[in-house]
Order: sequence, then structure tokens, then C-alpha cells
Amino acid sequence: MIDTHAHINHDLLKPYLNEIVDDLKNFECLICPSYDKKTCETTLEFVKTYDKVFGALSIHPLELKDWNEETKNFIEKNLNNKKIVAVGEYGFDYHYQPFDKTKQEEVFLIQLEMAKKANLPSIFHIRDAFDDFFVSLKNNFSNFTGGVLHCFDGTIQDAKIALDMGLMISFTGITTFKKREDLRDVIKYVPLDRIMLETDSPYLAPEPFRGKVCLPKYVKQVYELVGNLKNVTQENLDEQITKNTKNFFKKLVI
Ligand SMILES: [Zn+2]
Repeated sequence: MIDTHAHINHDLLKPYLNEIVDDLKNFECLICPSYDKKTCETTLEFVKTYDKVFGALSIHPLELKDWNEETKNFIEKNLNNKKIVAVGEYGFDYHYQPFDKTKQEEVFLIQLEMAKKANLPSIFHIRDAFDDFFVSLKNNFSNFTGGVLHCFDGTIQDAKIALDMGLMISFTGITTFKKREDLRDVIKYVPLDRIMLETDSPYLAPEPFRGKVCLPKYVKQVYELVGNLKNVTQENLDEQITKNTKNFFKKLVI
């Protein structure tokens, strides 16, 4: 079992950290993405401390207050760390007013280029902004060195465009929510070798834990759902997801 996206660097998970670390025995590995300057630092600390924890560094579109030359240099320098396996999570988020499209794209493009320079894949956070993301990525495709749409919350049509561009698609616990039949249809649509699974802890705990603080161990509920929808055993699913994850995060040694 792998959780490809768990913010164990988030303050909400501080009281659970011992339990999470103890649970790592049930995981092949866990990937901890950053979203602001502080979590970039915590991620670096965690990958040093915990064998099974790997990390990603970048600034999230809702944390652009942290974006400056110093942060950029700090991230760039640490992308060389052998346990930093991606640039992420970054992208576009138009969910909360007001947002600055121009600024979001500017920082997106700089981080895309950083990923290329470091020869790393990207973990993309895209919320209510698929159209602009696809256009921007298409226009700058020469800088694209692989990417995953984390916490996928789009339509089958969005998934189709993403797959055609070579992206991976990652699903969270929201796919277990009663009203999200649409996302279960997306899971049925996406080929199994293009899927990764995650919790996005501490948010989005799957059913039957919905509303609670989400912990990485709940990724099991996402594995179960996907296994059922794809009609594969948990053993085969586990094997395939591990293979996908290792192919995608080339620096991942597990
Ligand atoms: Zn996240």
C-alpha cells in the first residue's frame, strides 16, 4: 500500500504523528508534498527522519504569499535531495475569490521549468481551473517532464484530455462519497496503469470516516473502492499501483 499524497507535515496531523509513523510498517512508502515555505522545511526534515517517507517541494497556488526569489532558490537547491521525488503540489486554484490568474500562471510556469531542470515529475493541484491549466501546459509542453493530477475532481472529458497529454490521475477519498457517482465513473474510465491513489490527509477522509481528520491509513478505503470498480483483487491492485507509482516517481527507491 502506498499513499502518494499525505500532508503529514500539516499542523492538524501533529497530534497523530506517532500513530502515523507507527503505521508506516503497513506501507511501502508515503509521499509528503509541500504547499508553502514552512511545509517545504518540514518535508525535508521528515524525509531525513523516516525511511519510508519521500517528499515533494513547491508553493501551492493559494500560498503565493510565500513565493519570492529566496523561496524559489531554497526549493531549487533542495530538489537535489535524494528523497525529494517531485515538484509539488502546485498549479491553479480558482475556487476562492479573489484569485489572480496571471500570478498563478506565472508561478506555475516557473515551477514547471524547475521540474524540468531537476528532471522531476510534477504533482499538480488543479481546482476549478482545468481549462486554463490545459492551455498553459500545452503552450509550454517542452518544459513538461511528467505530472499527476492529484485529488482528481474533474469530468471524464477532463480525464481524457489529461490522459492524452500523458498525465497520471490520482484519486482520493472523495470518490467514496455517496453523491460522487461521477467520480466513480471516471475511475471506471481511466486505465488502471494510469492511476495513483492517495488520501490528501488531513482532509477528505473517505467513507465511513468522512468528516474526521484524515489519516494515511484510510487510503485502504480508496484501494477497496478502486478494486471493486475495476474488478481486480486487492493483491493485484496493490501490485499495479506500486508499479505505477514507481514508474512515475523515478527517484523513488522502495
Ligand atoms: Zn495536497
